[in-house]
Amino acid sequence: MSEGISQPDQPQELEGEGKDLFSKFDDIIALREGLLSQGREDPFNLVMEKVLSPTRAICNGRETILLGTYNYMGMTFDPDVVEAGKQALADFGSGTTGSRVLNGTYQGHKECEQALKDFYDMDHAMVFSTGYQANLGIISTIAGKGDYIVLDIDSHASIWDGCAMGQAEVVPFKHNDIEAMEKRLKRIPADAGKLVVLEGVYSMLGDVAPLKEMVAIAKKYGAMVLVDEAHSMGFIGENGRGVVEDAGVIDDVDFIIGTFSKSVGTVGGFCVSNHPKFEIMRLVCRPYVFTASLPPSVVATAETSIRKLMHGSNKRAHLWENSKNLHKGLRELGFKLGTEEPQSAIIAVVMPDLEQGAAMWEALIRNGLYVNLARPPATPANMTLLRCSLCAEHSEEEVGQILEIFEKSGKEVGII
Ligand code: PMP
Repeated sequence: MSEGISQPDQPQELEGEGKDLFSKFDDIIALREGLLSQGREDPFNLVMEKVLSPTRAICNGRETILLGTYNYMGMTFDPDVVEAGKQALADFGSGTTGSRVLNGTYQGHKECEQALKDFYDMDHAMVFSTGYQANLGIISTIAGKGDYIVLDIDSHASIWDGCAMGQAEVVPFKHNDIEAMEKRLKRIPADAGKLVVLEGVYSMLGDVAPLKEMVAIAKKYGAMVLVDEAHSMGFIGENGRGVVEDAGVIDDVDFIIGTFSKSVGTVGGFCVSNHPKFEIMRLVCRPYVFTASLPPSVVATAETSIRKLMHGSNKRAHLWENSKNLHKGLRELGFKLGTEEPQSAIIAVVMPDLEQGAAMWEALIRNGLYVNLARPPATPANMTLLRCSLCAEHSEEEVGQILEIFEKSGKEVGII
């Protein structure tokens, strides 16, 4: 026996019960049980038994219009996309079983990265297994101890988690407040490493960031800029490159983060950049290195979809029409909306509280419409929201039906 380490002959009895590490969830367990005890359908446990198209599914035994997916451009059933996935599955198998830096880079991953470079007209593209990991990886690797991250307080969870992982000093500012952002930047030592993190479209309210002003200020204070364009890729900007393109600042930002789980219609994440040293990220970014790469079928569907999105201007125009019609119609019905004008494909309907939000969600699903119920901590200012996200494949008639279901459900619940 080594010296200094006592080895009891008998197992020691534990004193007391010890702390149940689940006790911190008691409040949310009670809240959920309270909602379900009223006989409500569980808004967070919906099962799609069959998916008929990008805009229709059988949910809980009923044919349902989908108004709560991120399938903005309706690419999930595109015949070319589906065919590319099938072919890659047959040719390359079901998975890579390895990291991108070992055995997990197939020709398809490189072709997918080339499609992203072409789509954004940028020098470098790096594909991650999810958008969550893209934010986690890039932010934590770029900004570490001693550096500063200035970010919008309403940033996505993956951005906050990336900040926490990198251990930089985190300096949040009020949502979309240009002056507040500048004030924070002014206080940071001039010679410190600084990263400003913004989103093109904020997914809870569907509002757009004033990127023109914000990027100019970030540059004035010598900060690098990362913009998450998850909810604008394929839709906003002349070539669908996002709010950075629409605001004319795409050449001034250092990193664009995106995802394949929205307009691209599959799963995966990416970062594109023109930084000359960007490729080193492949060796130093832990959420890229220490996880398996995407299956060949997924990168093949992503590549095909991205290339088709380069020519999606008709679909983009139709999606804008849908967004405007839904916003106008809901407003005329008397619903309170997250933005004065439609700014993206997300229209948020503000509910008075969680109780009424859950009741309205249930009425909508009973009447054949699926939307997202969103509640704190995901939402800003403790709001309960019914988030509607439109698809370029919703027809004009479907938008009409959606409005009829909102009217019927709103009257049933007494919200309008
Ligand atoms: N960024 C934003 C702004 C998002 O809304 C999301 C997902 N909702 C992500 C990143 C993560 O994307 P993914 O689904 O690919 O993990």
